This record gives sequence, C-alpha cells and structure tokens, in this order.
Amino acid sequence: LSDKLDGAFKKLAGQATINEINIGIAMRDIKRALLGADVNYKVVKKLVEDVRQKSLGEGVIKSVSPAQMIVKIVSDELTELMGGEQKPLALSSSRLPAVVMVAGLQGSGKTTFAAKLAKRLKKSGRNPLLVAADVYRPAAVDQLKTLGAEVSVPVFSIEEKDAMKVAMQGLEAAKAGAHDVLIVDTAGRLQIDDAMMAEAEALKNALKPDELLFVVDSMMGQEAVNTAKAFNDRLDFDGVVLTKLDGDSRGGAALSIRHVVEKPIKFMSVGEKVDDLDQFYPDRMAQRILGMGDIVSFVEKAQESLDMEATLQMQKKLMKNEFDLNDFFDQLQQLKKMGSMQSLIEMVPGLNKMVPKQDLENLDFKPIEAIISSMTKEEKSRPEIINGSRRQRIALGSGTRVQDVNMLLKQFGEMKKMMRSVSKLSGNGRKITSQN
Ligand code: GDP
Ligand code: MG
Repeated sequence: LSDKLDGAFKKLAGQATINEINIGIAMRDIKRALLGADVNYKVVKKLVEDVRQKSLGEGVIKSVSPAQMIVKIVSDELTELMGGEQKPLALSSSRLPAVVMVAGLQGSGKTTFAAKLAKRLKKSGRNPLLVAADVYRPAAVDQLKTLGAEVSVPVFSIEEKDAMKVAMQGLEAAKAGAHDVLIVDTAGRLQIDDAMMAEAEALKNALKPDELLFVVDSMMGQEAVNTAKAFNDRLDFDGVVLTKLDGDSRGGAALSIRHVVEKPIKFMSVGEKVDDLDQFYPDRMAQRILGMGDIVSFVEKAQESLDMEATLQMQKKLMKNEFDLNDFFDQLQQLKKMGSMQSLIEMVPGLNKMVPKQDLENLDFKPIEAIISSMTKEEKSRPEIINGSRRQRIALGSGTRVQDVNMLLKQFGEMKKMMRSVSKLSGNGRKITSQN
C-alpha cells in the first residue's frame, strides 16, 4: 500500500513541478521533428515562436502534461499553416468543359496524377477527357494512353509537335464529345527552364483552366519549395498536388510550400497505382509531420476525462491550505481516469519519456478508497482529529489494518506539505499550465 501511495504522490507532485522543463523538452522535440520532416528552418522558427505565444494565453488543464498541451497547440498551428480546411477542386459547372491543367518538373508525377484525377472525377459522375500535351517524348503519350485505358477515360492525342495545337484541338474534341471536364497533361523538364515556363504560360492563357495544378515530388525536400516558388511566380497556379508521399518523405514540403506560395494543397499522391490519390487534409498532414503518433486525439481524450474545474478548485484549496481527504479522494479518482490513458502515452514517442513510467492502470486504489470511505465527514475534512480509537474503527470498517490507516494519514500529511510548497514555488511561472 505504501509503495502505491508513494507512486501516486509522486505523480501528483510531478504534475506541478516539471512543467517548465516539459515545455522545453516538448519544444525541442517538436523542433527536431519538424526539421527532420524537411520543414524550412524559418518556418520552424516562426512556428515555435507562435506556439510559445499561444501557449501563454491558453487555459490548460492542470492534470494534462504541458508537453501534451503544447503538442496539441503545435498540431493545430501546423494545420492552420497548411490551410486549415481541406480545399476541394473548384470546377466550373456552367462552363463546359471545365478545364484542369497540370504543370511541374519531369518525373514529378503529372501524368500519373492526371489519370488518377480522371478516374476520381469519373467516379463522381463526371465525363472527363484526358489530353496528351506532352509533345516532346513519344513515350509520354503512350504512358497516358495506357493509364487512360486503365481508368476507362479516353485520351486525346495527335501527331503534333506543338503543345498548344494539341491542347486547343483537345478542347474542341471535348466539346464535340460532350465531355464536361478536360484534363491537360503537359511536359516538364528536369530543371526549371524558360521554354517550359513559356509553354505552360501560353497554355494557361489559352485554356484559362479552372484549376491549374502544380505537381511536385515531396521527396525533393527543400528543392520542392524553390521549384514551387519558380512555378508560382510565373504561372500563378491555383493549387498544389504533392506526390510520392508513400515514400520516406514526412511531408514537411507541404508546410514549406504552402508557406512560400500561399496556395492550397489539394491532393496528395501516395503510390503508383491509379487509386493512390487522396484529398489533402491539413490536420492529418500535421500529425504526420510531427511524427509523434496520434497526439491530438490523445490530448482530446485527456480533456474529456479530466475535470478542469475540479483541478483548479483543488489548486486554490492547496494555496489556502484547505486541501483535505475529500479532495485527496477526488484526486485519486482523477488519477484513475488518467490510468486508462497510460497506454496512449506509451504510444507517443517523446512523450513517453516525459510521463512517469509507472503504470497507473496497475495502481490499486481500492484500499485507499476504502479507508477514506470509512471516515466520517468531519474526519475527512479535519484529519487531525483522527485519534487511535478512530483509526481502529476506520481500519475495521475498511477491512484494512491500523498500520495502513496510519500510513495513509502520514503520507497525506507529507503530500499536502509537498504540494503546498510546490504550489507556492511555481506561482506565476505556471501560467502555461493553469488558468492564468
Ligand atoms: P511526369 O513526368 O510528371 O508526368 O511524372 P509521371 O507521372 O510519369 O511519374 C514519374 C514516376 O513517378 C512514374 O514512375 C510514376 O509511376 C511515379 N509516381 C508518380 N506518382 C507517384 C506516387 O505518388 N508514389 C510513387 N511511389 N510513385 C509515383
Ligand atoms: Mg508526364
């Protein structure tokens, strides 16, 4: 019993003392995670500053570790930085056909994406036509034809070296064939060059696409950002398609690109197969970038199960020296709820190092609860009146031994002392973990 109590006390006390340290550790881990995920250093710096600012004003639940709260704030911030909401494809319904044009470097995944998008649009009831306007490599046309056949979408192509002619004839063919969406695949080069940009620009001006999508390989890391900027400066595209997110890339490019070009990321490509396409959800990407497991739902669960009000009340009582066995009992209940979260904590790398290792779930609070339940109301609020005969009665009533009752009272006294000094010590510095 004594060991168990000891563990519980340590945990209660720990909550109050290691907050500032936790914040530092959390921020360091987060910084590392972001840099490791290829997020631009300047973006990381700005984010960390923003998060510090936000954390300060935030009402944080006492019983949740500050690290967890901060991670949640970071995750929200990342989501916001990547545009917040999912931005769907905006295709005109009045103009027929609506036009989607793709642009990007060679090998970024344009042709594959064009076919994937065609499949997706067809599935949603549209009647798309693919146009092979990559006129420089014969293989590119064949590739689109093969993919088109796979997704059962027709591909328009002609023997022609002028991409503009192909595109304009494709547009006519779409009208003639009652296609309501035209998807124009274009050529890319291995590097940004003026000829490619000029061609893309001309195609844009002629086709006036509803969506000009910039396709970029997420594995390119920082280089992806430079490319995005160059394309956007010249083409002012409407949205981004991030490809090859099935690889090692952790998606930091998403954050950096969004930050630099301020255009929504609309799709993410996660493989070579025609079904490997997802809409881009900033919140999911935020979690992926943090690479820390399902932190958000963890913190949300913590918020659900811990009663913020009760905790703040308790803190006040501590300051006023009114903390009694009733409050202690309530605290145990809170700890028990936390026990069910222990498994969650363990799944989160980084956090599991900050949260005490002991398994709360295995802590047996029953004898403690039994002892406290066997006390009268007065005994609970004024433990000092519990003399020898009262102790005997309580032990008998709770099915424990007098030594156990003694131990609990002694530990309670020590804990109260310890918590009070901790409470005083942290005073203002605790803004981040309590209500101002
Ligand atoms: P384009 O030159 O921009 O048209 O690029 P392609 O569509 O031809 O793609 C280049 C290569 O990348 C092909 O081998 C594709 O199969 C591959 N690819 C495209 N998208 C993805 C993706 O999301 N994941 C993976 N692993 N490979 C992809
Ligand atoms: Mg291609």
